[in-house]
Parts: sequence; C-alpha cells; structure tokens
Amino acid sequence: MSKGKMEKTDKAMRVVVVGAGPVGMVCALALNRRGVPVTVFEQEPAPVEDQRAATLHPPTLSMLDELGVTKKILPLGLISTTYRFHDRVSGQVIAEFDLDRMRDEFDFPYVLQYEQYKLTASITAEYANAADFDVRFSHSVTGLTETADGVEIAYSSPDGEGRLAAAYVIGCDGGRSTVRKLAGIDFGGFTYPEKFIKIATTFDFGTVNHDLVLRNYFSDPDEWCNLFKVRGKREPGLWRAIFPVDDQEDDAVALSPDRIEMRLQKFFPKPGRYEVEYVNVYPVSQRVAATFRKGRVLLAGDSAHVNNPIGGMGMNGGIHDAINLAEKLARVIKGEAGEELLDLYSRQRRHAAVEYVQQQTIANKKLMEERDPAVRAKKFDELRRTAEDPATAKAYMRRAALLDSLKTASSVT
Ligand SMILES: Cc1cc2nc3c(=O)[nH]c(=O)nc-3n(C[C@H](O)[C@H](O)[C@H](O)COP(=O)(O)OP(=O)(O)OC[C@H]3O[C@@H](n4cnc5c(N)ncnc54)[C@H](O)[C@@H]3O)c2cc1C
Repeated sequence: MSKGKMEKTDKAMRVVVVGAGPVGMVCALALNRRGVPVTVFEQEPAPVEDQRAATLHPPTLSMLDELGVTKKILPLGLISTTYRFHDRVSGQVIAEFDLDRMRDEFDFPYVLQYEQYKLTASITAEYANAADFDVRFSHSVTGLTETADGVEIAYSSPDGEGRLAAAYVIGCDGGRSTVRKLAGIDFGGFTYPEKFIKIATTFDFGTVNHDLVLRNYFSDPDEWCNLFKVRGKREPGLWRAIFPVDDQEDDAVALSPDRIEMRLQKFFPKPGRYEVEYVNVYPVSQRVAATFRKGRVLLAGDSAHVNNPIGGMGMNGGIHDAINLAEKLARVIKGEAGEELLDLYSRQRRHAAVEYVQQQTIANKKLMEERDPAVRAKKFDELRRTAEDPATAKAYMRRAALLDSLKTASSVT
C-alpha cells in the first residue's frame, strides 16, 4: 500500500471507524466519550437515508441513554409499548406482548420506533467535530496494512487518495464489509432464496383496522407480512410493510408500481391506489464472521453478523457490539488493560450473535411462514399461552428485546 500521502495523526490513540451507519456512529460516539479520538470514513457523500431499521429495543435505549442520546430522540420517534402477532389467513390476533409489564426490569419499558437514518444523522450533526470526532464523507476505505504498532488505512476521496495511521480500525461497513474482506475473515452462513420487499405508504392502516398496534407480525403460509409504523418526515407518519418476494420474481417486477399496488391491495383491499413513499428489495442472509477481531482489525454490526429483519435485531445487536467494544478498546488504548480484552469482545459478541440473534430470527421467520396446518396451529397455541401467562410472557419479552443475549454474553469469559 504505497499510494497517497500519509496524514500526520495522534496515531497511538486514534481509532478509525469505517462506515457512518448506526453502528459506526454509536461506536465512534462511545469511544469519543471515553476520550479516544476517532476518524470515521464514510463512502457516501452525506448521512445515508437508509430506510432499513426503525426499532430500538429497551436495552438499546438504556445504552444510548448513557451516551446522552435517548432523551433527545424520544420525542422524535414513536413509543410502542405493545406488539402483536396476527394470523393473516383468519384475521385473528394470536397474541399480544405488553412491554409495560417489564417496568421493574427495563428503564425504558417500550420500543422506540425511530428510523436508523435519523439516529445516524443526529449523532453526526450534534457530536461530530473536525478533530477528536472527525467524520469524513465521500471517503472510501480501500486498503489496510498492519504495522508493528498500529494500522495504516488507505482511502480514496474526491481530493484523491490518502493514507492515515491509527492504533486500531473498526469495520462498521455493513454486510459486504471491505474491512472484513481485507482482513481475510470468513463470513459463514447462508442466503435465503427469496428476498424481502419493504414498502412504505402514507395510507393510515390504523384508522381502518383497529386490531393494529404500532408493531404487527402477520403469519401467512402464502405471504407473511410485518407492518410497523414510523413517523417518517411528516404527519400522519408512514406504515412500513415487509413481505417476502418469491425467488422466481424479478426485482424489477417486484418494484413496479402495479405489482406494489397488487401486493398492498391483497393485504388490505381499499378504494383508490395506495400512495407509496418508498420501496426497496433486500437480499437476506444469516451469517456470522469467524472472529470479530484479527490483530488491530475489529468488526461490529452488519460487517460481523447479518440476519433477517423479523424481530428487529440486526441494528440493535450491532449497537450492543459497539458499546461493548468501545468500553474495552478505550481501556486497551489507555493502557489500562491488555489486548486480550479485545478477544473477549469477540467471544462475547459472537456468542450473542450465534446463540441468540441467529436462532431467534430464524425461528421468527419460520413462525411467519409455517405451511403445515398442524404445526402452524401448535405454534399459534404455544405463542398464545406464552403471552397469557405473566411469567412466560416476561421471559419471551426479555429474549425478544435481546436482554438475555446481553446477559449471557457478559458471562462469557
Ligand atoms: C428491510 C430491513 C428492515 C430492518 N429493520 C430492522 C429493525 O427494525 N431493527 C434492527 O435492529 N435492524 C433492522 N434491520 C437491520 C439493520 O438495518 C442493520 O443491521 C443495520 O443497518 C446495520 O448497521 P451497520 O451500521 O452495521 O451497517 P450499515 O447500516 O450497512 O452501514 C454501513 C455503512 O458503511 C459504509 N461503507 C461501506 N463500505 C465502505 C467503505 N469501504 N468505506 C467507507 N464506508 C463504507 C456504507 O455506505 C454505510 O453507510 C433491517 C434490515 C432490513 C433489510
């Protein structure tokens, strides 16, 4: 790696974060709050208006609160106390879970529906400065070289190519992570044959279907649906529906206005066309990196693990990585702990990804799409009974909010 001029930095302390998505920005903020200077490289020219995640679970809200973020964003999102499972075939509500029952365990006994792009943009606008929290848009990381006492990062930007030396680099650059590939870390798992389509409409389903709450899961052997509400950019907000797209259906067909209209009319027939604010098709995989640390290269968020979005665990799990890593890495950089602490980060967060997030999201998808009528009836019955009994309902909500994953991860040594 010889291209580009080497910048002078406080390289013994500085951490480079690759990717200004929600995980990169939370990780950078958490490091900065611990006195570690950070440089964030983001290939896009501005904070990305990414419409994927919108659900912040209670433990994530507690973590963001310690960074001073939660109380600022609470009035900007939608507070969602309950979530419901519906049978799309019969139209019945199967089960409801009420996070208000968790008041004794959660500081924030609800989910905040708040789009990931708003979180990312608000951290950038409020905290990023030019020195200790240096966020550089239109900077794409292209190379990494480990040296005896650090790592050199090569980047390209509109001003040309450059290099920067740092103590560590954290790949928060998403599922197709360049950092992970440059470090040669395996990303085992599988990709589902079908894709998922997310359609956001201004049509207010809540005014016509009184069985809806802000977060709804519709099980259906033919075409399941997740239907969640967000504030969007103006009143009355948006409903975002996720459906599976058959592997035989071309993306261009799925994204065509008539096919979108047909999908929404099949879900809820109504007079007149639906007004669609945005739509996108996503490939979906279940994969976990072989390690989250290799020398001075660390991974967090989607670069370390990807999963299907049913249950809203990808970004939340990534933010949990970011907080765990920032605390440990700051101690290592300040000389308060040895580098083996970074291996503990990898073991703890890999455990959470493999044992909880992967298992739970795979199970969530199976519940949504189950075809066998007997198995479907049995699963519905189990879910109904789980929700009705206060003790099992609480256990379910702890797991679904990723609290269990955090607790067992912290017991990994
Ligand atoms: C339809 C859908 C709905 C979802 N809903 C939820 C939800 O409700 N809750 C939830 O927890 N999760 C959800 N997820 C998952 C969630 O979106 C991801 O887990 C989350 O975005 C991961 O954040 P990240 O910061 O790790 O990566 P990303 O958000 O992918 O950000 C990576 C960033 O890195 C940048 N980058 C990439 N390569 C480079 C490079 N070489 N140099 C510089 N920059 C680079 C990219 O431009 C990007 O800005 C959903 C996913 C989908 C598909």
